[in-house]
Amino acid sequence: MIRQYELVDKVLSYNDKADIALINRAYVFSMKAHGNQKRASGEPYLTHPLEVAAILADLKLDEASICTGLLHDTLEDTLTSYDELKDIFGQEIADLTEGVTKLSRINFNNKSVEQAENFRKLFMAMTKDIRVLLVKLCDRTHNMRTIEHMKKEESKKRIAKETLDIFSPLADRVGLYKVKIELEDRAFKVLKKEEYEKIEERKSFLSQQDDIIERVEEELAGELKQHNIKAIVSGREKTIYSIYNKMVKKNLTFDQLTDIVAYRIIVDDKSKCYEVLGLIHNLYKAIPGRFKDYISNSKPNGYQSLHTSVIGPYAQRIEIQIRTQEMHDVSEYGVAAHWLYKQSSVQADVASYRWVKDLKEMLTSTDDPEEFLENTKMDLFSDEVFVFTPKGDLITLPKGATPLDFAYLVHSDVGNKCHAAKINGRIVPLRTQLKNGDQVEVVTKKGQIPNPGWREIVVTAKAKSAINRYLRVQELDAQIKLGREILEKAMRREGHSFSDKDLPKVIEVHKLKDVDDVYAAIAQGRFFPRQIIDVLYPDEEETKDDKAKEYLEAIESSSGGAAKKMPTLSEENAVGIDGLVSGLAVQIAGCCTPLPGEPIVGIINTGRGVSIHSKACKNIEQFADEPDRWLAVKWHDKIPDGGKAFVVRMRINISHVPGALSSVTTTIFNAQGNIVDLKIESKGPDLYDIRCDVEVLNVEHFSDMMAALRSLKCINTVERLQG
Ligand code: MN
Repeated sequence: MIRQYELVDKVLSYNDKADIALINRAYVFSMKAHGNQKRASGEPYLTHPLEVAAILADLKLDEASICTGLLHDTLEDTLTSYDELKDIFGQEIADLTEGVTKLSRINFNNKSVEQAENFRKLFMAMTKDIRVLLVKLCDRTHNMRTIEHMKKEESKKRIAKETLDIFSPLADRVGLYKVKIELEDRAFKVLKKEEYEKIEERKSFLSQQDDIIERVEEELAGELKQHNIKAIVSGREKTIYSIYNKMVKKNLTFDQLTDIVAYRIIVDDKSKCYEVLGLIHNLYKAIPGRFKDYISNSKPNGYQSLHTSVIGPYAQRIEIQIRTQEMHDVSEYGVAAHWLYKQSSVQADVASYRWVKDLKEMLTSTDDPEEFLENTKMDLFSDEVFVFTPKGDLITLPKGATPLDFAYLVHSDVGNKCHAAKINGRIVPLRTQLKNGDQVEVVTKKGQIPNPGWREIVVTAKAKSAINRYLRVQELDAQIKLGREILEKAMRREGHSFSDKDLPKVIEVHKLKDVDDVYAAIAQGRFFPRQIIDVLYPDEEETKDDKAKEYLEAIESSSGGAAKKMPTLSEENAVGIDGLVSGLAVQIAGCCTPLPGEPIVGIINTGRGVSIHSKACKNIEQFADEPDRWLAVKWHDKIPDGGKAFVVRMRINISHVPGALSSVTTTIFNAQGNIVDLKIESKGPDLYDIRCDVEVLNVEHFSDMMAALRSLKCINTVERLQG
């Protein structure tokens, strides 16, 4: 048990101007008020408020919060009155204590209208002064620390469930990461003791096995030191509850879990964060899709950090978080850290929390407790999103759902004809993620059809299967058209006329279903026109393409063969592609990665379908003498809304000035480009090169981004890397 003087020392350690006399008065008052009361453990009751005050001091909170911690149970459990507290400690502390008392009276386990009213009380109390919630969370933390002393198993379970359902999400919302994980692990231990113990056992077994965490820490720290970066590297095992969640979510056994350790790198300033990221990606293989930039795009609770996963030292798959000390403090202490950094009152910071604002709006805009419950629940239960139809009906969708999911939930016809969407009356892109409380309206249009890009932007099974059902038919049509074109072209090249009537023979020999199947097989790259021509004209010797020879000769006779003459293609009946049509055996060539909007050409590959190259690509020269492999293709006129993003690679040369790298990433972020990889290629004293892979929608999007980058003072050159 902590002693009074230890509490005082703790407060003085971060606030040497603290009003110690006030804290001592609160201590003495609480001691007298609780008198001989005992905790379930048999200890004097006073230990509880004292420990709660100590947890508040761990969060480095102000004297008023510490005093409230000491006094928080006096109104409920003793004869003390509000007026008495006000007389002795002033209105601020009396109000805070009363707020905590009100919160404590709330029973979250009633499934009734009463519950709605309870939620309302909770948030009313909380938004008036966020410190009420902070004290309540510390109160709950200490109660969870001592829960084993409770007699009834039933009550333990009830409190643990309430902790997991209500209080740990609230701790997360105010950014109290440490409190959140402690509440989660302790509640989980009560609710699923066996699972908890199994994971705990495996974890401690692993950490005893070797000192792998220390060795990885040392190696990472060594690398950073070599590059003259001052950083603190620390590894920590993930919490038991988060390991359990991951196992359940990904259906894995403990042994299949790879990254149960996360490493944190803390550096001096924001631009160093990106520098470290570039360095780490250079040293170790990055795991695709795991890079998250929460610095440019911070979480609603204020959390900022860069996240990435790499195959690190000792071939360990590890997660790395890169942040500054301030970002780190905010992640651990949430609102409390804001208070420390800004030296303003905690209360003033409430306004900067978007979700608190949202809640306040909800509180003022509804009078119906049941509707309020729906509204409120939605911010607490984070894997679902609650939206409204234009008529005001509430619709529940999984988190990440888009207006398209909404449309398909209404009816698959509405989904298929979805032309545009409005959220809260404003037209938005179909890929927009829905937020709680959004009112969603779908605009349908006759003749609108689903496009393949839609598959990437829906999350519900219903929408996915409806789109797939529709597209399978569509795709087959497109394949038939493409296959026919390829075959017709190849036959003309060989000097044969072409007719559908010739095909039954081919169908028989190659055991295909029908004429359409022949075309589809060609389009999918299962067959090459050669095999079909061989069936139709078996006696004909398989000559090397005569016209190809003509081409070769023409090239040889031209001026030294400097530039090859490329086949001319009729653009009139070019095949429309959007680079997405799956099953069509159409792929974007990796050498030149053309973007929608750039001139392109298709090269037919034996057995591999069609590669789409930029017309400017050097690699297509090698096919100059094989005109029957060339296919006229064009981008679909309109890049479909929600179309897939294309990755382009850039090399950027930057002056070595403070903040340069972070202004680059911020510019890309502001231009709506999504950075998928970033590496520092070479570094001199004044300049350095970074290589950056960014997802863009099309060539206009890309050139806008380039223009924005070129306008930065710290950037010397930006070039696109192809081939
Ligand atoms: Mn208490």
